[in-house]
Amino acid sequence: CGIVGYTGFQDAYSVVINGLRRLEYRGYDSAGIVLDSNEDTLAVAKTKGKVDDLVAVSEHLKGRAHVGMGHTRWATHGVPSDRNSHPHLSNNGKIALVHNGIIENYDTIKTMLSGHGFTFQSETDTEVLVNLIQYFMDTQPALEFPTAVRYALNEVYGAYAITVMHEDFPGVLVVGRLGSPLAIGLGENEYFIASDASPFVEFTRDAIYLEEGHMATISLENGVDIRSITDNSKIEPAIQELKLNLEQ
Ligand code: GLU
Repeated sequence: CGIVGYTGFQDAYSVVINGLRRLEYRGYDSAGIVLDSNEDTLAVAKTKGKVDDLVAVSEHLKGRAHVGMGHTRWATHGVPSDRNSHPHLSNNGKIALVHNGIIENYDTIKTMLSGHGFTFQSETDTEVLVNLIQYFMDTQPALEFPTAVRYALNEVYGAYAITVMHEDFPGVLVVGRLGSPLAIGLGENEYFIASDASPFVEFTRDAIYLEEGHMATISLENGVDIRSITDNSKIEPAIQELKLNLEQ
């Protein structure tokens, strides 16, 4: 199970696919990718199986975008299948989310959202979270995307590392961490997100390991803004220099 995200000047498809390959050792049953080409809607491809299987159904996305994210899934809620694979989209198709971990109270939230007319395509706990973000944005139209993510995270119990994209906020990646690891790689005019540093160590040695209960909003325009999920207090990033052996 792993997450890779990218915003920068390189081809996001290649960075994400290569990054997912570097996370394969963690084990997984499905893989997926979403790209924001900045021209039209979010482009999603996902499948049960290996990263090679994902490439087979998604190669047409190569060269299309500079922003994107991918996921390898280790199923906890819902069998390994194409539909249960991540990324998951919100009902309006605008928000995409990848998640490692478990949302313990997904059933309660699913019932609440169903009462508001939301429908679900998968059996995952994850799909509930992306729709909860849409719910907050629908009901509070002035809400910024990262704030809606923060509100949603304050409603869930469990363990997660997540990365979220919104079609109307191009170039912005929102990440959060509670109980599952997430690292941010700081390049020059590019940022990487990954479950561990192996997907981006070939591009940069400067990394921030997101701490428990923290979230970050990442964009080329505004850099990395780290906040406490509970109270939104600003957190100064602790940048570490990676000392990894590239040959490993
Ligand atoms: N609980 C989520 C699912 O079953 C995420 C699993 C994972 O960590 O990959 O889809």
